[in-house]
Amino acid sequence: MNILSHILGFPRIGVNRELKKAQENYWQGKYNKKKLLSIGYKLRKKHWKKQLSSGLDFITVGDFSWYDHVLNTTMLLGNIPDRHKNYDNSIDIDTLFRIARGTAPTGHSTSASEMTKWFNTNYHYIVPEFKKDQDFNFSWSQIIEEVDEALSLGYIVKPVILGPLTYLWLGKKTENNSFDVLDLLKKIVPIYIYILKEFKKRNIEWVQIDEPILVLDLPKNWLKKFYDVYKLLHGTIKILLTTYFGSISHNIKYINDFFVDGIHIDLIHGDDNIFSLNSKISQKKTLSLGIINGRNVWKSNLDNWFDVINNIKKSRNKLWLGSSCSLLHTPIDLNYEKKIDSETKSWFSFAIQKCEELSLLRDSLNSNNKNNIEDWVKPINARELSTKVNKHLVSERVQSIRNNDLKRTNTYNSRYKLQNKKIKLPILPTTTIGSFPQTKEIRNLRMDFKKGVINQELYDKKIRNEIKKNIKIQEKIDIDVLVHGEPERNDMVEYFGEKLNGFTFTSNGWVQSYGSRCVKPPIIIGDIYRSKPITIDYAKYAQSLTKKPVKGMLTGPVTILFWSFPREDISKKIIAKQIALALRDEVLDLENAGIKIIQIDEPALREGLPLRKNKWKSYLKWSVDAFRLSSSVVKDETQIHTHMCYCEFSDIMNAIVNLDADVITLETARTNIEILEKIKNFQYPNSIGPGIYDIHSPNIPKKKEILILLNKYLKIISKNKLWVNPDCGLKTRSVEETISALKNMVDATKNIRKKIN
Ligand code: GLN
Ligand code: ZN
Repeated sequence: MNILSHILGFPRIGVNRELKKAQENYWQGKYNKKKLLSIGYKLRKKHWKKQLSSGLDFITVGDFSWYDHVLNTTMLLGNIPDRHKNYDNSIDIDTLFRIARGTAPTGHSTSASEMTKWFNTNYHYIVPEFKKDQDFNFSWSQIIEEVDEALSLGYIVKPVILGPLTYLWLGKKTENNSFDVLDLLKKIVPIYIYILKEFKKRNIEWVQIDEPILVLDLPKNWLKKFYDVYKLLHGTIKILLTTYFGSISHNIKYINDFFVDGIHIDLIHGDDNIFSLNSKISQKKTLSLGIINGRNVWKSNLDNWFDVINNIKKSRNKLWLGSSCSLLHTPIDLNYEKKIDSETKSWFSFAIQKCEELSLLRDSLNSNNKNNIEDWVKPINARELSTKVNKHLVSERVQSIRNNDLKRTNTYNSRYKLQNKKIKLPILPTTTIGSFPQTKEIRNLRMDFKKGVINQELYDKKIRNEIKKNIKIQEKIDIDVLVHGEPERNDMVEYFGEKLNGFTFTSNGWVQSYGSRCVKPPIIIGDIYRSKPITIDYAKYAQSLTKKPVKGMLTGPVTILFWSFPREDISKKIIAKQIALALRDEVLDLENAGIKIIQIDEPALREGLPLRKNKWKSYLKWSVDAFRLSSSVVKDETQIHTHMCYCEFSDIMNAIVNLDADVITLETARTNIEILEKIKNFQYPNSIGPGIYDIHSPNIPKKKEILILLNKYLKIISKNKLWVNPDCGLKTRSVEETISALKNMVDATKNIRKKIN
């Protein structure tokens, strides 16, 4: 028996973000359609060639998309919302962009479809919209064309498509609730059958159908529907049903009955017992083992896998090795990293290297010879002893954390009194979330400094100048609690990662976040600690410019963790503790420097939620503990703020309360009733600033609108606990917009204060 290797998908953006540049140039009218299409073709061709030269047995086709692969499926099925249709009902690439962005180079503009997180990754997909009488028809032949492209280049092709049930699960009903989305399957399945037949015509042996929802706690009727659907899809060509991002043992008794020829399981993110699963899954089926992490940057310990798979091999004939999920979530090529030192670099594996790992392991298993693997894992073993990784003092300090370190001295109510005495704020205090507009000059300034064009001294002087400007603006508007404006920060996580020990940074490690947006997450390589203060100088400087309190601004431990590539040799829980301890020192230093209010942002708290409910409790416990560890070191009279970005709080309400921040500010300002209702149910026991206007919109909020919303908030939140603030940082807005909006906010607040007094 020969083991085969494949990946579930390759990153589409291009090693130099060619796709991003092509998209943006096309949107701005600088490229025509032909140019855009030709760049896509070149990228695919390049990525296929890489897969072949890395030795994979199949080339995965269908992972490319012009914006997002869920949107590709929407196009394929002709599920186009009316408002996005071209006037003449035709469908083209501009229709696709209109769904994603609300506008396209040709045709009208309208509101885009919603975008949301792809499971618990940092990739975002475009949410399909469904209505009861929705029509579906095969109307976007991209997948077939790309298959033909790859075939004409002589590759052995395995097309990938998103499965019908996952597609339905990820969408939302837009009209009414009086129908079951599963009823739409009868219109969708024939399209899938048609596509499979097209593949068959082309002599394709295998199709990969992604159904990641099989790792969730699915309702029974959904699991049953799977059976019906795959019975219909079965019989044309071989189907590899791929699951990822979690384990499937809890659903295996259903999955086992599905009419599919192979099953892929994610052995990285799930905790399935592979031996027990192997014994449960029919021998007739191909088993594809997802053993190379598609969501992180570390070399895989092939030595361990060799032994495990060798064992499984004894009892199974049809065995494949694969990436755990698509490699969409990893950077593309380690060889582009020229600045990372060679020791650190030897620990990593990006998408191309992961393809090579798969082939290496396959060959070693097929030839029953471990020699090459032994060389491959040498750096992994060496890392265990590296001084870059292990810092005794850090692990000792983590060990010595006591429960008392997680608690403020007194309860909120007694703190409240002490803080009021010390900080002396009016009722309905006004503040902002932290960042001020990041103008071109500020961006250039940081870039010049990074490139060495200007020296530390000059840079420092210019940053101080920006801080001074921001303080002046806020004093003039008469805001109560000021911020320095974060001009020195390019990104709220990168900034702290660069100052803390234990991180490394890539120069080209881009990963698609959504559409043309890419991020370059820091990599946590070792024990994290702070060797010197990070934010104190600028905070002190800002405070020296005004009599009003200036907030010290920090990014929280959970957010730093989730927006980085974590190390895999210790748990996330321990990493979070390490970051929290480093921040704890920073918090104490801020307090000692005379900063009376410290804000610790945790926008990623909700993002870290595990996919299955039975894991929520333990996650929420350690993540909340990490926040408390970082914040509880202060005296009662020092006020701790936190900020969070999504308003889906109802299900983690307890955890948020447990943070015990004195004040929480939330992103909520899209002023509809639903959100008010949520805030009302939220019942935060401490103080709260639910966001009074939407910073994502360029519209200046009118004083009248703010008054109305403030009055609504006052009906549900006590006047002694309500704060007034925009709903997120002001980084993306212009200075003019910011000043006008904040003025209206302060004026409206003063108006209401007068009435209350
Ligand atoms: N303090 C950060 C800012 O104002 C918070 C950003 C965020 O919430 N994502 O930019
Ligand atoms: Zn925010």
